[in-house]
Amino acid sequence: MEPRNWRVAVVGSGPSGLYATEALAKRGAQVDVFEQEFAPFGLVRYGVAPDHSKIKKTQLVFERILALPFVRLFAGVQVGEDITVEELVQQYDHVLFAQGSSSARDLGVPGEKLDNCVGATELVNWYNGHPRFVHAAPNLDVERALVVGMGNVAIDVARILVRNPDDFASTDISPFALNALKKSRIREVILLARRGPNQAAFEEKEVRELAALHDVSVQVDGYITKRKTPKSEFIAQLPRVGTVSSVKKRVILRFCFAPVEVLGQGKVEAVRVERTALVESAAQMRASRTGDYSQIECGLVVKAIGYQGEPLPGVPYCEATGTIPNLDGRVLDRQDGSPVPGLYVTGWAKRGPTGLIGTNKSCANETVALMQSDLDQVGPLHDPEAIVEILRARKIAYFDRAAWQKLNEWEIREGEKIGAARKKILSKEQAQEILMSQRVSDY
Ligand code: NAP
Repeated sequence: MEPRNWRVAVVGSGPSGLYATEALAKRGAQVDVFEQEFAPFGLVRYGVAPDHSKIKKTQLVFERILALPFVRLFAGVQVGEDITVEELVQQYDHVLFAQGSSSARDLGVPGEKLDNCVGATELVNWYNGHPRFVHAAPNLDVERALVVGMGNVAIDVARILVRNPDDFASTDISPFALNALKKSRIREVILLARRGPNQAAFEEKEVRELAALHDVSVQVDGYITKRKTPKSEFIAQLPRVGTVSSVKKRVILRFCFAPVEVLGQGKVEAVRVERTALVESAAQMRASRTGDYSQIECGLVVKAIGYQGEPLPGVPYCEATGTIPNLDGRVLDRQDGSPVPGLYVTGWAKRGPTGLIGTNKSCANETVALMQSDLDQVGPLHDPEAIVEILRARKIAYFDRAAWQKLNEWEIREGEKIGAARKKILSKEQAQEILMSQRVSDY
């Protein structure tokens, strides 16, 4: 088969989908990228913290990938609803799932459905102006927030909650979030880790950045390990909790405590926690229970304990891992474990929510190499216009690359007027209005 006749549908336009698109295009495939939001780039646009402008700039890399020949964008199309996976299978030789992990994992403790106990995905999407979370504001009219988890997302959340809101004025933060942060009464954020500093999932540089904020004191509470690693040494030299400081806000890294219940009448008022002890088990340090309970008063709880995928109709899904079952990227049947012809997966949907943006490149290359090696199994030639006709017949108003380019230019131009990196468009309807008004003025 001629590679140019190799047609692939990529579901998701975040880092994993677009690195895979690049690898596919290099191997000569024609790629159609499907994205449920009106704007592409997934985690880069809606996950990376607004004050991490250097990482946000990876968007430029992804813009270039979308501009490659034989790559098309269908944004604003929800696979599973606007078009089914079965229909994609009929229209393409291969379908590659790269939709990431969009939900926050639950703690599984009583009280976590109380008001103001939120998943990190909700909070992160809210401050990043995600269309489905624009109005998902948590109540910041509280003095203390508790963040469960000690990974990079937990550190991002803590930093956003305590940083001087004026620092965000030049970023692409949602105006609703900026306004709420300006009015926020939060003075203290406690990060809760069930294990010790050496097991903390964050990167040292993320805590260094937090500790370098000039109007925030980062302090340590709980177990301090004797085993010296660069991470634990850095944490050990931070002030212990209770150290008197002239600054107004505190972040406390509290090690070896696990939440057992979120308490409150209708809304969060406190969290009951249990001290843990570290036990070596199968070459890992495990947190074991001690029966030593205490309570932390707080008005906001953020669950930053990892993300989880969501099942897509017509695609195998593993509840336990929140991923699509696969072998190195080939999707596996749930019943007999055999590869499902034509279906592939990459990124967080393949390996779970781990690694940095760049990790997705090697992950995508692995899957795409397998897809190419399976090429002899592909069927007859497909008409590239058939998908366009299906979407038109269903009146699905999708955003192609040319539309996205106009929206991107609008966001940057409007951002410049207020001294910000960009002014994000906050809904599909707003995006359509902008395109419509441009058409009128072009005319
Ligand atoms: P993560 O790195 O997996 O960290 C999850 C944290 O939650 C860990 O501290 C974990 O502790 C804890 N945890 C899990 N289940 C728990 C439970 N039931 N009770 C209490 N604690 C629990 O997840 P993440 O922070 O969501 O990050 C996801 C990925 O995105 C990571 O690869 C991360 O590096 C990446 N990311 C990177 C950046 C950046 O580069 N700046 C920013 C954001 C995210 P245990 O270790 O004890 O399980």
